[in-house]
Amino acid sequence: MVNQRAVNFGAGPSALPESVLEEACKGLLNFQGTGIGIAEISHRSKEFTSLLADLENNIRTQLDVPLTHKIIFTQGGGTGQFSAVVLNMLARHRLLHPNLSDEQRVMDYVLTGSWSKKAAAEAKRLGGASVHTVVDARTKSIDSKSFDGIPAHADFDFSVDPALIYYCENETVDGVQFSNDETSPASFPFHLLPTGGLWPLVADYSSSFMSRKIPRIADHAVIFAGAQKNVGPAGLTILIVRQDCIVDVDAAAQLGATPVPITMSYKTIADAGSLYNTPSTLSIYIAHLVLERSKKLGGIEYFESVNKRKAQRVYAALREGADRGFYHLKVKEGSGSWMNIVFNVLKNGDDAESKFLIGAEALGMKGLKGHRSVGGIRISLYNAITEEQTDNLVAYIKGWTTPESI
Ligand code: PLP
Repeated sequence: MVNQRAVNFGAGPSALPESVLEEACKGLLNFQGTGIGIAEISHRSKEFTSLLADLENNIRTQLDVPLTHKIIFTQGGGTGQFSAVVLNMLARHRLLHPNLSDEQRVMDYVLTGSWSKKAAAEAKRLGGASVHTVVDARTKSIDSKSFDGIPAHADFDFSVDPALIYYCENETVDGVQFSNDETSPASFPFHLLPTGGLWPLVADYSSSFMSRKIPRIADHAVIFAGAQKNVGPAGLTILIVRQDCIVDVDAAAQLGATPVPITMSYKTIADAGSLYNTPSTLSIYIAHLVLERSKKLGGIEYFESVNKRKAQRVYAALREGADRGFYHLKVKEGSGSWMNIVFNVLKNGDDAESKFLIGAEALGMKGLKGHRSVGGIRISLYNAITEEQTDNLVAYIKGWTTPESI
């Protein structure tokens, strides 16, 4: 089985650890000795509810989630949350400020890539408040049109009392990530947020969840992530929500807020222990296996150090090749993602990138094609990619720049 599997550098759904997949196969046939497979067992069975509690506990302990925040599970992916965060946070704002008109409400969006841009478009579509762009990184980019880095802190323009402040921590398509080092100019400018009070800070962590510690986790209102990068298969969406953001959306609707579909209401999900309706049982099971494995390996600290080394080695090889004109790194130094590294191959003819991909595939390395909207090459280095697999890719990147490859 191992020999037949390619190394999947795809951006998501993405590679999962083989040991987990093998274990999951057993659970598909017979879950915890019940004689019933995990895809067949009731989500209200004691075996499943205890597994769900373990998954929550694993996330809480590994990420150090404070008790001020609930961890809830839902479906609909990151895209579902583009809508849900708007509806829930607007309901919260309505309860806090019932007398403001829609025109007086504002939602702040930090645009650093394709996913935050999509989220802002959904907020505009839903209405209920105006959308204010805190900063659009394209206007600060080298060509004035690409998302190529985190803008300078001085360029962030936050509103005074927004219903939400939205950012995407890791832009999967564009390869731009906020630094986790607060002293870096590419970190999120927490120090610019108004002092005091509970910030309505919302973060999309879809493609970096569980890859390293979340800076200032306690200062967030909502953190959400689809599971299908570092945690498990698609179908599961994980939310960390501060308790004051779990509000009675029906009471807010009576005051004029947009009614919230029942499966999107954080309160409905939280009150039902994430079992208001049938959850994605199989994805939850595999996510549980993945996080049990990470716990044994040393938790988030382990993955943070491994992921850092992996990214450093790939960037170093690409920079060295870029200095000699073989590659073009699309993201400014300091803003480059640890999870998704994007670049162009410049040498070896017009079809250099196709050749690069074909060569990689011949070596069993797949999923390296850049997102269709931006082209180029994208290397995704999620938790399941090992250092050895990364080193093999690094050797290929270096090999491409030797005279024989021209
Ligand atoms: N946000 C980010 C950062 C993503 O990478 C993705 C998908 O890749 C999404 C949101 C959308 O997630 P989904 O396809 O689960 O709706």
